[in-house]
Amino acid sequence: MAALSIALSKGRIFDETLPLFAAAGIEPAENPQNSRKLIMPSTHPDVQFLIVRASDVPTYVQHGGAHLGVVGKDVLMEHGGDGLVEPLDLNIARCKLMVAGYPDTNLDQRKRWRVATKFPNCARQHFAKHARQIEIIKLYGSMELAPLVGLCDLIVDVVDSGATLKANGLEPLELMAHISSRVVVNRAALKTNNQPISDLLHQLEAAVSKST
Ligand code: AMP
Repeated sequence: MAALSIALSKGRIFDETLPLFAAAGIEPAENPQNSRKLIMPSTHPDVQFLIVRASDVPTYVQHGGAHLGVVGKDVLMEHGGDGLVEPLDLNIARCKLMVAGYPDTNLDQRKRWRVATKFPNCARQHFAKHARQIEIIKLYGSMELAPLVGLCDLIVDVVDSGATLKANGLEPLELMAHISSRVVVNRAALKTNNQPISDLLHQLEAAVSKST
């Protein structure tokens, strides 16, 4: 096994992360668009990429299946961060975690809100902080549909331009957190593999400060 395994999900984070790794001298050895390999060697002999689902990145890193990972802060908050350290904000894939719903919604109204989300832990924490009662409806996608068919009163989701909300007659109501992609490292690996991990983090940090 390569000295360092980095868990990444394909899609937005992958596309925006690769230029930063490239600036640090690490590129996938073959075209990731055409490859179905889940372990992808890199041009650096000691580094390989592991292709996992975005929501599984913290779990792989927590349990030592990967030394490091790149993951959205939304996914990380939902996971809870056990066994992980979060040393670097890559400042990419930026968006906001929001409460959203119909434009005339009064969040101060006393009621038991039905909230559809793929972030139940974040939603519970946020609504508890505001002393609001909720019932969670766990969904995995197309969150914006749920209020339209009467499944819920509110959704908790990541919002970028807000165009998807608007196209479905909804709007952002309350900010929960600013989101960007973070590097996470297995807490134990940070001790046992300190040198290569520190070197990589320094190179990535330099690439991030050049790109911002
Ligand atoms: P929007 O630009 O607000 O219409 O975003 C469209 C959809 O893309 C939203 O419903 C989100 O689920 C998703 N999305 C937006 N930004 C991100 C991001 N940084 N990471 C993951 N998903 C995102």
